[in-house]
Amino acid sequence: IRWRSTSFPWTLGSDGVRITMESALTARDRVGVQDFVLLENHTSEAAFIENLRKRFKENLIYTYIGSVLVSVNPYKDLEIYTKNHMERYRGINFYEVSPHIYAVSDNSYRSMRTERKDQCILISGESGAGKTEASKKILQYYAVTCPASDQVETVKDRLLQSNPVLEAFGNAKTLRNDNSSRFGKYMDIQFDFKGAPVGGHILNYLLEKSRVVHQNHGERNFHIFYQLIEGGEEDLLRRLGLERNPQQYQYLVKGNCPKVSSINDRSDWKVVRKALSVIGFSEDEVEELLNIIASVLHLGNIQYGGEDSGNAYITTDTQIKYLARLLGVDGLVLKEALTHKKIIAKGEELKSPLNLEQASSARDALSKAVYGRTFTWLVNKINVSLAYKNASVIGLLDIYGFEVFQHNSFEQFCINYCNEKLQQLFIELTLKSEQDEYEAEGITWEPVQYFNNKIICDLVEEKFKGIISILDEECLRPGDASDITFLEKLENTVGGHAHLTTHKLTDGKTRKVMGREEFRLLHYAGEVNYNVNGFLDKNNDLLFRNLKEVMCMSDNKILTQCFDRAELKDSRRPETAATQFKTSLAKLMEILMSKEPSYVRCIKPNDAKQAGRFDEVLIRHQVKYLGLMENLRVRRAGFAYRRHYETFLQRYKSLCPETWPSWQGKLADGVSTLVKHLGYKPEEYKLGRSKIFIRFPKTLFATEDALET
Ligand code: ATP
Ligand code: MG
Repeated sequence: IRWRSTSFPWTLGSDGVRITMESALTARDRVGVQDFVLLENHTSEAAFIENLRKRFKENLIYTYIGSVLVSVNPYKDLEIYTKNHMERYRGINFYEVSPHIYAVSDNSYRSMRTERKDQCILISGESGAGKTEASKKILQYYAVTCPASDQVETVKDRLLQSNPVLEAFGNAKTLRNDNSSRFGKYMDIQFDFKGAPVGGHILNYLLEKSRVVHQNHGERNFHIFYQLIEGGEEDLLRRLGLERNPQQYQYLVKGNCPKVSSINDRSDWKVVRKALSVIGFSEDEVEELLNIIASVLHLGNIQYGGEDSGNAYITTDTQIKYLARLLGVDGLVLKEALTHKKIIAKGEELKSPLNLEQASSARDALSKAVYGRTFTWLVNKINVSLAYKNASVIGLLDIYGFEVFQHNSFEQFCINYCNEKLQQLFIELTLKSEQDEYEAEGITWEPVQYFNNKIICDLVEEKFKGIISILDEECLRPGDASDITFLEKLENTVGGHAHLTTHKLTDGKTRKVMGREEFRLLHYAGEVNYNVNGFLDKNNDLLFRNLKEVMCMSDNKILTQCFDRAELKDSRRPETAATQFKTSLAKLMEILMSKEPSYVRCIKPNDAKQAGRFDEVLIRHQVKYLGLMENLRVRRAGFAYRRHYETFLQRYKSLCPETWPSWQGKLADGVSTLVKHLGYKPEEYKLGRSKIFIRFPKTLFATEDALET
């Protein structure tokens, strides 16, 4: 660890170099404080936002709340991610340089190395706030600054190259973000005993499969489809039976947005192709993967004839021909599976024809299942290529933030539930670590009051009477179960809950803003109305048995891994989507709990994806639901500042004749003598085993000012 003289936050220029004291005071006015705990008026949201604004105008996008990093998306290249910047943050204490994602990265790395404790960095924020960019910066930091060996170079490359691949298959252009991650991602970066990155492991969560078959206006399908069509070589496209025009494909025209100015599909295609081979995909595997992608497009172009009430038949035989070839299945069997449903009644197999609507949704269900399972296969494949055992770990969590739209459905329900769980973890871990430190230092501490959102988590996930259980019950119930009966059951079972209401349950005041098909959850971050339409279908996520059978018969090696025959024999119902998600979240919480967390809270400055625009209303909203004010309150309720005795004495010893030029006795006594001389009042500070704790920032400011006079 290299030593640098301690400078205090507001004495730093934007480049992290210490500036003179004279200009420091004006600098504090101009650039704000680099740690919110230093705000004089720390309970004021206005002061909080003003500080963010000041810094944002100066291109200072990072600010701390204690050790939590708040980041505002600049929407422009700031040139603060150079190798020089990386070097500057290596082995440096948090407070010695200006806030940066590299400081957080380095801090986690050092804790992992010195304390031998696994770390995790939790990145949160709404769509477009910069989570994925932040996680990439962290990964790059480790790739550049960590020691390496020959073997490690390939692992580093693979780690880095996993990003373009996952983004091609899991990201899409949305109204909020041209490169929006449509899945949650937790990635372990594994380090060996020398501190070199040697492997990794990725867990993926809830891919937004519905995007494969439908996109809202102004949005696109997953990038890979456009990359293939725009960038794929002539003979490749010919083999796949594809035309170089996204408008030809039903699954690509829904959003009426084939091209995005910030995206070059053609060059991205090259990047992805190269990344696939770096990660270790064989040519055969790539071929089979692309066969699947092309098949999804062909599936989308299958059209049906037949009246709504009558039986559906397929009118597009060319597509079937291509599908049969690309997937290695029998065309006739596939055709029949796309128009019939197989039922087993009294031990006998019956085929019942589908009507137009049923057939279209069976086709779309197949597309979603094929794409979703292929994505999971892809993640597993990357994991195999990164596999390493017995390592120390830094985990990166880049997961969807809290979402409130005009229309909120099952997806938002799952995403917001996930955020409730993360908030709970955050509360537990920040409070816990704060308390642990006081305990370790022998400082008495009064617990802070905070809103514990466990009550909301329970409402969603509790066995038998949680919302997910009730939903599952309706999904399993034969007969007249529908989205509406689910809503009614909610009313009957948890209608009295303080955090749930429905149209029927509300009084006249709020009834207007609630639809009859909605239930409202009072989340920790605010109210959200969920429309129950489609909840049962999405939760069931059913694929007709005969379509599964066809996929099991496929020659495509990826598909045979994705559709296992054992699944067909298993007569139990597959777990519902919500229950699967609940289980995977519980596992994630366990993983995160076993690690030491750091937090990056990302904020989106405006909805226009524009540099330099600071939309206060939008930002206030995010400050609220990221719980930043509460975070600050918790942090401030204890002691705003803590310093090791040695550091403190070193910096201020000149202010007291007894400690200058050096203190010979015990460090704690030296600090005690020093602060008494400075006139600290007993309520302003506490002395722990190895650190001094200072309650208010102004105490420290006064001392800092005294240095200069
Ligand atoms: P989603 O939840 O939709 O996946 P996200 O939080 O992951 O959103 P990003 O994709 O990381 O958002 O960021 C959106 C865009 O904002 C990026 O494509 C990039 O243009 C810009 N951006 C984000 N962070 C930075 C940064 N630190 N510097 C410059 N530009 C950035
Ligand atoms: Mg993202």
